[in-house]
Amino acid sequence: MTKITIDNRELEVPAGTTVLGAARQLGIEIPSLCYREGCDASASCLVCVVKINGNARLAPACATAVEEGMMIESETAEVHAARRTALELLLSDHLGDCLAPCFFSCPAEMDIPVMLRQIAAGDLRGAIATVKRDIALPAVLGRICPAPCEKACRRRELDGAVAICLLKRFVADVDLATAEPYLPVCETASGRKVAILGGGPTGLAAAYYLARAGYACTILDENAELGGRLLRETTPEELPREVLAAEIAQIARLGMEVQLNRKINAAAFNDLCGRFDAVLIAAGHAAREQADAFGVAATTKGIHVEHGIFRTDRPKVFAAGTAVRGKSMVVRSAADGKEAAAAIDQFLRGATVTGQIRPFTTKIGRMEGEELLRFAEGAAPDTREEPTGGLAEGYVPDEAASQAVRCLHCDCRGLHACKLRKYSAIYGADPKRFKGHRRAFVQDAQHAEVLFEPGKCIDCGLCIQIAAKAGEEIGLTFVGRGFDVRVAVPLDRHLGEALQKVAAECVAACPTAALAWKASRGVDLAD
Ligand code: SF4
Ligand code: SF4
Ligand code: SF4
Repeated sequence: MTKITIDNRELEVPAGTTVLGAARQLGIEIPSLCYREGCDASASCLVCVVKINGNARLAPACATAVEEGMMIESETAEVHAARRTALELLLSDHLGDCLAPCFFSCPAEMDIPVMLRQIAAGDLRGAIATVKRDIALPAVLGRICPAPCEKACRRRELDGAVAICLLKRFVADVDLATAEPYLPVCETASGRKVAILGGGPTGLAAAYYLARAGYACTILDENAELGGRLLRETTPEELPREVLAAEIAQIARLGMEVQLNRKINAAAFNDLCGRFDAVLIAAGHAAREQADAFGVAATTKGIHVEHGIFRTDRPKVFAAGTAVRGKSMVVRSAADGKEAAAAIDQFLRGATVTGQIRPFTTKIGRMEGEELLRFAEGAAPDTREEPTGGLAEGYVPDEAASQAVRCLHCDCRGLHACKLRKYSAIYGADPKRFKGHRRAFVQDAQHAEVLFEPGKCIDCGLCIQIAAKAGEEIGLTFVGRGFDVRVAVPLDRHLGEALQKVAAECVAACPTAALAWKASRGVDLAD
């Protein structure tokens, strides 16, 4: 047995054990991409580096055997920086969209392609759950949102953007028409209380997500009914009032208290701050004029808050929406409500208040011409159609399904399993740090079940080893040299011929989604 120390913890392991293996015995997760049990270590990704015996040069944990008395450091700033750089070098040549372009253009960051796949599959209950994870008022926004997501839709360049906004509305309308519209599962009541000033899109969204997180919410509004700018800035033709009322009723079903005709002056505000655990000012642009009365700082635009956190300079008081921004899209106000709820939740749990954590992603960027045509190859050929009954009627189920299948599924099929993305997020890797000229994006769909996207390959060689060990007749190989080395099927054969026995093992071993199931990435973004 060999005695070693990892991060000040001693253990004995059999001679010949690697540092990576020893760390795993201690439950210490050293990241690794190119190593796999049963395969030869290539030590090519260098994400698993550690510091050994204080040596200046870091060593790959996957290819270093333990020695008696070895002192290993895995969690120092120096080691983390080296891992981050190794990841950034891999990302410099990485070509893929973890999340679709439409995701980043939706202020509420809704998982649009997942919703579209659920509509196409007829899973409307799943679709409303996807929608409401990020948008509390989808039937409302489905009627009045200018759909910035559609401006970023990759299919727009081809034959018209996917009808994202109308499809979201379809999902919400169908849900509201059911006997038991969707209600999320709420966390156990925390016993903490939040006062929300203003029952417009920001306040309503905040109440919805705070109630989901287990807080008792009280909405106070100076008007005789809830809705705020949704009532002031839209006509009943644009936004039928019964739709607004139905969606507010859904939020109220989560169990909040509503106080209407409540004008809040300085004394009343101080009282709220005393009685509630947190207060959110979401009373629209007019709230800026009350900043002095509320005891919070303001700029000419609105109440001053910390960026992304929505915290004012008064303890436990937050502000969001047009109270902070001045004018903005309604979907921006609703997104603010959700994000402020996330920040208030962190504050009330005693956690560091970071606001909503942005998911890690790499981006391909704009596609056009031949590249876009190749990317869209095999996609449903239908063009964008408006509802036959007119916009006021919206889509009927058949129309919705045929519009939903127009999505090109730009998001990555391996999002949840991808180790490159996981560790890039953990180590804060910047995908643009070493970014150079980008190649054309290519998909190889010649295998019946497996999709190969060479731009996502990190040349770990695991699939080559697995195919060779299994005796695949054609298998895979490296071609090219130096920076141009890449994995390919030899002898001008195709992937379907190359992976006949061990396609599943290769997909499971691939540390990215370079090899992924065609049908995967079905449902969930909850990572
Ligand atoms: S392979 Fe990983 S890093 Fe690359 S696009 Fe897919 S999820 Fe993102
Ligand atoms: S084609 Fe689909 S996934 Fe791609 S941007 Fe458009 S809606 Fe989003
Ligand atoms: S395709 Fe093969 S070589 Fe490329 S990352 Fe996946 S397993 Fe490694």
